[in-house]
Amino acid sequence: MSEASNKAIQKAYIVRGGVPRMVLPDLAWVGGCSNSSGWPGRAETRPVTHEPCMAYVIMGAQKTIMMDTGHYGLWYSLDGQLDAVLKGRPLDYVFVSHQEIPHTGNLGRLLRKYPNAVAVGDVRDYHLFHPEVALDRLVQKQHGDRIDLGDREIVFLDAIWKDLSGTMWTYDTRLKLLFSADTFGYIHLHDENVCGTMFHEMPEQTLGSVIGRPALPFFGMSSRDQAARVEAFRGFLKQYPLEIITSGHTAPIMGAMVPRAIEKLLGDIASGGPRFLQSVAGADPGVGEGSDRGAEFHA
Ligand SMILES: [Zn+2]
Ligand SMILES: [Zn+2]
Repeated sequence: MSEASNKAIQKAYIVRGGVPRMVLPDLAWVGGCSNSSGWPGRAETRPVTHEPCMAYVIMGAQKTIMMDTGHYGLWYSLDGQLDAVLKGRPLDYVFVSHQEIPHTGNLGRLLRKYPNAVAVGDVRDYHLFHPEVALDRLVQKQHGDRIDLGDREIVFLDAIWKDLSGTMWTYDTRLKLLFSADTFGYIHLHDENVCGTMFHEMPEQTLGSVIGRPALPFFGMSSRDQAARVEAFRGFLKQYPLEIITSGHTAPIMGAMVPRAIEKLLGDIASGGPRFLQSVAGADPGVGEGSDRGAEFHA
């Protein structure tokens, strides 16, 4: 790739704020942000916003797993981030939540970097994206399946909110951690000290601006009744209590922020849902098209 296109990529996909971070001894937060001002024709558009494009590595006692692959455009940094957090350990599993570039675009690179790793998730059609990958390295998982990392299990879950047919979530039984694909995503302003900052570390003012702009999945919230999904999620919480929430578009949500983020999300959904990520005729596609899809910016 030319130096000019490398520079363009590194303006659109930025890494700052201290990422990668070891959130816990067994939980690493890796990735970066999609920067709206780095997109062609968007340099002067205000406000400048970021969509976090994150992935997580869980270091089990015996095995390791990466939750999503991180965004394809961030590989220039992710490659070294993984070396830093794994410290010589191999990556054993790569969970692919769904077939979008910010979530699984680095799968080929990861399977090349870690020759013994296998992809796990709803991988029914990944052989089409990755004809170079041996079929026995694409391991199909179904709702309720588990893999053992030595000191915990990772549970594969049919996502309650999907934006593609194969979207899955995962749950770590030791950390009580949910990796929720797109759910709980957000967009934040191009301020200093936000990219690598967790909600509980933010001043209340910053938190308000971040929480108010979630990038929710593309599931037609404004046109379909979500009551059954909301109820299903409340049932899910009883079976899988949450202490940490992660996704491809969030910093880790921990502690007192967990119930707050849940109630905010369910409140938004129950009240008819914000209209971002909807195909509204004439709407400004707004922020975020650099990563998943257009998102309407909500002031
Ligand atoms: Zn996404
Ligand atoms: Zn950012």
